[in-house]
Amino acid sequence: MEIFKQIAPLKAFLSSCKQQGLSIGLVPTMGALHEGHLSLIEASRQQNQVTVCTVFVNPTQFNNPVDLQKYPRTLDKDILLLKKVGCEVLFCPENDEMYESSSIVKFNFGHLENVMEGKFRPDHFSGVALVVSKLFHIVDADHAYFGQKDWQQFAIIRQLVHELKFNLTLHSVPIAREKDGLAMSSRNLRLNATQRKNALAFYAGLTAGKKALLEGKPVELVKHLVKEQVQQYAEMVLEYFEVADSKNLTLLKNVKESDQPILCIAGYAGEVRLIDNMFLDSEN
Ligand code: AMP
Repeated sequence: MEIFKQIAPLKAFLSSCKQQGLSIGLVPTMGALHEGHLSLIEASRQQNQVTVCTVFVNPTQFNNPVDLQKYPRTLDKDILLLKKVGCEVLFCPENDEMYESSSIVKFNFGHLENVMEGKFRPDHFSGVALVVSKLFHIVDADHAYFGQKDWQQFAIIRQLVHELKFNLTLHSVPIAREKDGLAMSSRNLRLNATQRKNALAFYAGLTAGKKALLEGKPVELVKHLVKEQVQQYAEMVLEYFEVADSKNLTLLKNVKESDQPILCIAGYAGEVRLIDNMFLDSEN
């Protein structure tokens, strides 16, 4: 695996790959890699000759300084995992390579970020769009892979690609879960044993919410039921449970208002923030 910390040599390497006609897949991550990330690498390797994984804990997308400081960083282990799955290129820059001076550019995604994550994490998606735009320019990939786990992020990046005319195809990869259903997340490393057990509350809430909606229960009632259910797990605090249209993220009062509703949940296990989601009409 080729490892780059600087933009210029990475671009030189990728431009020679392009001259040879090789297709390039990009998988942006913040590291502390787990099987969810590896499923994105796998999807990219199936469609591209060169997969570029990026590991960069992007400061501009953290609205909480403690979260940034405590975000797990396991680069040596990440490198071993990436080599094992046959990733061709790793780009793991330091902060000053990505942000040479303090950043003043802001993105605003209007109604796409007035709900859910955007509502509870001011400026989060601006920071995501900033770093993803930089990575799109640097790597100039043919394909880019993101997880369904961060569905609102995917919807926002889709808008970014569309409006700024990035010349690549986006792919969403299903959520990888632990055996008991907990969505894999780098932040799970921060959970103690009790929190790890109780973190299942969100998956359980989504599953129960989905069942109730499919039985025809109204959205407002289901929101209430999920809230009550999550409250039964110690140390679990619900920030939101919403049912939204998966394309435009409009919050739904009735699931019939949307072709493809998605259930989204977020909150805290102790001080660790977790999110999860599930489509109403599929296994994921
Ligand atoms: P992160 O390192 O958390 O920023 O995630 C990097 C990419 O991996 C994002 O596109 C995430 O949506 C995706 N991802 C994170 N967790 C999972 C998971 N459990 N299953 C699938 N993709 C995931």
